[in-house]
Amino acid sequence: MPDIAYVNGAYIPIAEARVSILDRGFLFADGVYEVAAVIDGRLIDNEAHLSRLARSLRELRIENSPSMTHIAEVEAELVARNGLSEGLVYLQITRGAASDRDFGFPQDTAPTLVAFTQRKNIIASIAADTGVNVITVPDLRWARRDIKSVALLAQVLAKQAALEAGCQEAWMVDRDSFVTEGSSSTAFILTKTDVLVTRANSAEILPGCTRKVVQTLAAREGLMVEERSFSVDEAYDAKEAFLTSASNLILPVISIDGRAIGSGKPGEKSGLLRTLYIEWATNAAQSS
Ligand code: PMP
Repeated sequence: MPDIAYVNGAYIPIAEARVSILDRGFLFADGVYEVAAVIDGRLIDNEAHLSRLARSLRELRIENSPSMTHIAEVEAELVARNGLSEGLVYLQITRGAASDRDFGFPQDTAPTLVAFTQRKNIIASIAADTGVNVITVPDLRWARRDIKSVALLAQVLAKQAALEAGCQEAWMVDRDSFVTEGSSSTAFILTKTDVLVTRANSAEILPGCTRKVVQTLAAREGLMVEERSFSVDEAYDAKEAFLTSASNLILPVISIDGRAIGSGKPGEKSGLLRTLYIEWATNAAQSS
């Protein structure tokens, strides 16, 4: 059975799913997106993802979007129709397809909503066992990184640079040599004094949903949790490092720019937090 996608009200085989070439997502990257994990057929932390989506829409003044309740129904329907047990739901809302290519907002144009699912082993992850290697790259993005916009060219180039260097993720770095975040993940370090550090939320980074839960779980374990900028040098010198995202939960980082982090093996606290997150996600899923 082919995978089913959702396009503006219709459930259709993904190979037949189409949007107009005049869609502003295609022409201007004028749209936003979300990605939520599915474990045991249930969406994880979806309220947080939908509230970030609503905020992204507000910040870009994309109006008349389907309600978040409707979007949650579409997501659940796609999971059911595709028989998805573990993986991701991707959804994107653009300012729609007007009759012409004009920069200004079109009048009376309905937003485009598309969604689809992807199968992925999230819990049984090889990268979680082996750890991932990271390179640092300059952060080339625009000034509103708190909006989850589909304008991802800087992240595409960052990720490709990582892959070409034999790494799995790129940590982007601001002009003062402080890490902002990963190309598609939040960056964390654990200092040698056991303080868990990640950059404070601002327009310079995306407020990660996974990060927020991880910070809560870490604090519950008695770890000191600090929100502040950390430099590339501080990261090289960290006891542990890891990244968080809905699609990977928590992955230990074992090297940055070829320098081993800590022992060069997945760190103990990174592993513990991954286990706690999975427990939290599975319990949250069961009770929703
Ligand atoms: N930062 C960036 C740039 C991302 O693309 C992502 C993944 N969406 C994240 C952080 C992590 O966010 P989340 O935990 O909500 O997936």
